[in-house]
Amino acid sequence: MRIAVLGAGIVGMASAWWLQRDGHEVTVFDRAATPGEGTSFANGAQLSWSYVAPMAGPSVLRNMAKYMFDGSSPVRFIPTADPAQWIWALNFLRACGADAAAAGTAKMLALSFHSRDSLHAMLDATPMAFDHARNGKLVAQSSSDGMADAVAQMKLQAAMGCEQFALTAAECIALEPGLASIAHRLVGGIHTPSEEVGDCRKLCLELHRVLSANGVQFRFGTEIRSLKRAGGRVAAVETSAGDVEAELYVVAAGIGGRRLVPVPLQPIRGYSITAAVKNSNAAPVRSITDLHVKTVYAPLGGTIRAAGFAELGASDTTPDPAKIAVLRDNLAATFPGACAMDELAPWSGLRPATPNDLPRIGRTKLDNLLVNLGHGSLGFTLAAGSGHLLADLVAGRKPAVNAADYAPGF
Ligand SMILES: Cc1cc2nc3c(=O)[nH]c(=O)nc-3n(C[C@H](O)[C@H](O)[C@H](O)COP(=O)(O)OP(=O)(O)OC[C@H]3O[C@@H](n4cnc5c(N)ncnc54)[C@H](O)[C@@H]3O)c2cc1C
Repeated sequence: MRIAVLGAGIVGMASAWWLQRDGHEVTVFDRAATPGEGTSFANGAQLSWSYVAPMAGPSVLRNMAKYMFDGSSPVRFIPTADPAQWIWALNFLRACGADAAAAGTAKMLALSFHSRDSLHAMLDATPMAFDHARNGKLVAQSSSDGMADAVAQMKLQAAMGCEQFALTAAECIALEPGLASIAHRLVGGIHTPSEEVGDCRKLCLELHRVLSANGVQFRFGTEIRSLKRAGGRVAAVETSAGDVEAELYVVAAGIGGRRLVPVPLQPIRGYSITAAVKNSNAAPVRSITDLHVKTVYAPLGGTIRAAGFAELGASDTTPDPAKIAVLRDNLAATFPGACAMDELAPWSGLRPATPNDLPRIGRTKLDNLLVNLGHGSLGFTLAAGSGHLLADLVAGRKPAVNAADYAPGF
């Protein structure tokens, strides 16, 4: 079948991989000059198979005032005049109950485990170099309440197939000696040996290389303006290079998807910095999340990537120097002497978030239109499984996960 994939971020590229494997004639469109220039460019690098609990959860309700009124909070709600933002926020609050959050965690874990298997299958079929490492993750806790919540979540997830271990502060420092710098506030942590890291943008570039060699066509520098509809189908895509016709269309345009289809997406802006390691003895070996400062550190091919912040209501991607300075200070204070701090690569991107954090994957009410959208904070983690699920739905195969859990609903 002739399939047009709209968007060359990690979700579109992974979708193209699985569709091409089924023998389809795939063409990928993107306004950018190369793949992975959107939110997939310099994210936190986590293949976070066991850390997929939705952002909407009971703790949000406890911290609401801080998120709304404390300008220095790493998580912020910035109200705008856009009614879509308020509808999204109401639906987000509805998803914050304990039962909804537990059900959401189960659905996210099912997709992330499928994604882990799918990514490993892709790499077995086609080796790709993207600073990939299976080095585990340690989430450091600086409050007893936070540690108690984390242990409760660990127990919930153990029943869902996650292998995680609660560590004392001393055990955390034995595992990651760099954390001695926060020994004064560290109360413990959760260690997940099965977590992985990788460079999402490099994986997009590798997928481009592999897919091009296998006959997939790419149309970069092409703005997608709208989907032209006729008789309950998409008749063509209007682009800056003229109308494009295909038999099937897949919208995988990240936050740009909300201009093309009625998907409930809001941008949640985040930031990262990437710094070269100059003293590997002082640098972390595995991914570290320091919940006290809500910053994640990933060792990535001779660099450390530090990422954080979640700002709902911000829609431009110019890195704010104040936020970059916070990440720089956190990195320098947590792993002193580890990195060359004078040459940082700053970045900010927009997480394409749905209210309950579940992505929307599959067929829409238009006969030949599918979407693969709304991966929020976890698009790198969920891309391989989401692409696999999408290809199964196109082929009419029974997927490994319950497709209804991620159905677009429009
Ligand atoms: C600070 C930060 C840290 C993160 N950390 C992690 C992490 O550690 N692990 C994880 O799993 N996820 C993480 N994420 C989330 C992850 O980066 C995203 O979920 C993922 O990149 C989304 O991929 P995508 O392909 O859907 O979107 P994108 O990468 O944005 O790709 C969409 C593509 O569509 C194109 N496009 C859009 N509209 C149009 C149009 N009209 N015409 C033409 N082209 C168009 C864009 O140019 C873009 O290339 C993080 C995000 C941020 C911001």
